[in-house]
Amino acid sequence: MRLCRYNDNRLGLVEGDRIADVTAALDAIPQSSWPLPPGDLLIRHLDAVRARVKEVGPGAERTPTAGVRFLSPVANPTKVIGIPVNYQLHIDEAMEDKGLSAGNRILKIEQAGPFLKACSALVGPSEGVALRFADRRNDHEVELAAIIGKTADRVPKEGALDHIAAYAIGLDMTVRGSEDRSVRKSIDSYAVLGPWMVTADGIADPDNLDLEIRVNGETRQKSNTRNMIFSVARLIEFCSAFYTLHPGDVIMTGTPEGVGPVEAGDVMHCFVERVGSMDVPVRNA
Ligand code: MN
Repeated sequence: MRLCRYNDNRLGLVEGDRIADVTAALDAIPQSSWPLPPGDLLIRHLDAVRARVKEVGPGAERTPTAGVRFLSPVANPTKVIGIPVNYQLHIDEAMEDKGLSAGNRILKIEQAGPFLKACSALVGPSEGVALRFADRRNDHEVELAAIIGKTADRVPKEGALDHIAAYAIGLDMTVRGSEDRSVRKSIDSYAVLGPWMVTADGIADPDNLDLEIRVNGETRQKSNTRNMIFSVARLIEFCSAFYTLHPGDVIMTGTPEGVGPVEAGDVMHCFVERVGSMDVPVRNA
């Protein structure tokens, strides 16, 4: 099932090039009061929402995807986790290109560990990326994004995929430089998630998906998630060893080779097999 958040926080069921407005299914989410449970309420109650979507979907109003404003399918994660150095050819290019590494030491993934992107950086593709520090190098990193569905605390990789609710396309935007990743990758709009989420039952093997990004029609990155050093299951084990993963938490699983700069006016066309594609415009903040 493909679910999107669009326009004025509508919930959509994506069917080909049309969207059914299934916002009514949100009534399956129990009323909560302060303090809210950690994580995203839609993802936490996804099974119940999906059951309601099946009920209200057939009678729902439909609209073409083309005219829709796509927001991030996850509204309230507790963490957006980034994974550095998870593709060997990206490590190779970082070693060769000082503009990319900025002189930062390149570690193996086991030593580097995951990093966090501020949740305030999260946007949907239609919101676009607003560059700050436009005089510096601002790079795209296209990635498979895994959305956690069930609380995960120190889970072994065996069976770890059961903790995933859905997948989406992630863009881990980055300003290159000497600062910590937690600021360079946390600028408002530097975490793009979309265009919708595909529930995990729609992707049997997340470790074998083509992914690609074109900028203004030029292919920049093109690889397959089978080239990841840590599989998606291993990443859940790796991340949940440090902190509990809550429903709605997003893991951006790392980027392949071909990262490169963008500037205002560019359009990034991102693709992940079995998820779909999204166009993300770039502007100056
Ligand atoms: Mn990345």
